[in-house]
Amino acid sequence: MSRTMSAVRTLSNYIGGSFVPPQSSQFLDDFNPATGERIARVPRSGAADVDAAVAAARNQVSASGRAELLEKIADGIEQRAEELAQLESQDTGKPVALARSVDIPRAILNFRFFAGAVRHDQTACHEMAGALNYTLRRPLGVVGLITPWNLPLYLLTWKTAPALGMGNSVVAKPSELTPLTAQALAEIIHDAGAPRGAFNLVHGLGPEAGQALVGHPGVAAISFTGGTATGAKVAASAAPQFKKLSLELGGKNPTVVFADADFEAAIAGTVRAGFLNQGQVCLCGSRVLVERKIYERFVEALVARVRSMKIGDPGDPKTELGALISPQHRDKVEGYVRLAKQEGGAVLCGGERPSLPPPVANGAFLAPTVIAGLSPSCRTATEEIFGPVVTVHPFDSEEEAVSLANGVRYGLAASVWTTDLARAHRVAGALAAGVVWVNCWLLRDLRTPFGGVKDSGVGREGGQWSLDFFSEVRNVCVALPAP
Ligand code: NAD
Repeated sequence: MSRTMSAVRTLSNYIGGSFVPPQSSQFLDDFNPATGERIARVPRSGAADVDAAVAAARNQVSASGRAELLEKIADGIEQRAEELAQLESQDTGKPVALARSVDIPRAILNFRFFAGAVRHDQTACHEMAGALNYTLRRPLGVVGLITPWNLPLYLLTWKTAPALGMGNSVVAKPSELTPLTAQALAEIIHDAGAPRGAFNLVHGLGPEAGQALVGHPGVAAISFTGGTATGAKVAASAAPQFKKLSLELGGKNPTVVFADADFEAAIAGTVRAGFLNQGQVCLCGSRVLVERKIYERFVEALVARVRSMKIGDPGDPKTELGALISPQHRDKVEGYVRLAKQEGGAVLCGGERPSLPPPVANGAFLAPTVIAGLSPSCRTATEEIFGPVVTVHPFDSEEEAVSLANGVRYGLAASVWTTDLARAHRVAGALAAGVVWVNCWLLRDLRTPFGGVKDSGVGREGGQWSLDFFSEVRNVCVALPAP
């Protein structure tokens, strides 16, 4: 039997090249949110485990072997792709079809992409009168990677590949809700022959293992992806130690649809942006702004399409919407649906728990929800819900669209739907967001900068930006003798 396929698995930390239990001997339960079944016991690690991982994180990958190691890890993920898709689906409740088509291929691509980026990396040279400057890149040392539950392997590999590729050693703390593919990644990195201690994994709760990692004086940098409130705590404890910090935080992203948009493409794009991964992607377009001229027709078509989405067993390849991450998270999302009604909104579809047959009868499902009639400044329309809920709002002019789009504390992403090229560029330039898509959504070129403005985060990752974050550059100035 494969190491990852038994009924209730007991996971371990991976420290210094060995799979070890937590020093406390305490474990947390990990559940499949679609069935409610307990699927794993997760180490409840603390400061002592983090200390051991940081102490073990000494062996960096030699410069000549880095790209090859990343390629081998990509091969290892590819060989276990189907098993990893199943694990990701069981751990998160997401449709296995989504894990197969997005999460796992992207994890492979992250390692292959950064293998190429490391091979082709260049540093600068600046000539001046009487001297030559050149830039060296050096590893930071031990870096801490903290990741959320919505795209577990996708985001962990997005950080691990450039961190190892720049010669750092890693201590990773994945979400306690979704530890399975992180454990498999440790096995894959082990099997790929990484030096002992180059990659370490410490499972556990955020305020315990996560906090210990952020505050550890031996950790030079923290790359964190998660909620904005957690990001603020991470920043407060890392900043006094002058650690390098990358914070990829929450979003409340607008989908802006102009009357001149390709109607069908805009409907399809709005549905995908609103409901992919049950609306649990930081980039999800949860505020749909529609030009009044087409508002009624657009909302009618949107609701018809959303009502037809197939929700249910994540293991069924036809399923479009699976379970939310947990019953507690569904309670939170349902709280926003109740709030929307108090705020004067009309629930046009969804908002209720679907009736599903066993084995998913008691899963954390919520029907996809469209809400109209809300003020764009109310709490439902401005706070991150992180579930299958979109609000729709009409606008009358381009200026109003931009002002509504920018009128929240977040600024991660936006998508704009129009066939007017000049307007597309104008609006893209005016939106306060780190990523703007025009007539598309979540189309990613890994060379491009990724990150948010305002409360959506600090810093950029992706391509050169990841290499810069995970390295320290040093300028060497050499005086040249006069001729
Ligand atoms: P979260 O902030 O609760 O947890 C994220 C990670 O931080 C987990 O591993 C958690 O254990 C850890 N953590 C919690 N408290 C901590 C602390 N005090 N110190 C150190 N670590 C701590 O987020 P979540 O609920 O897992 O994920 C959902 C959030 O992530 C949403 O807000 C979503 O928008 C955001 N997100 C952002 C991006 C992005 O790229 N901007 C991508 C995905 C998700």
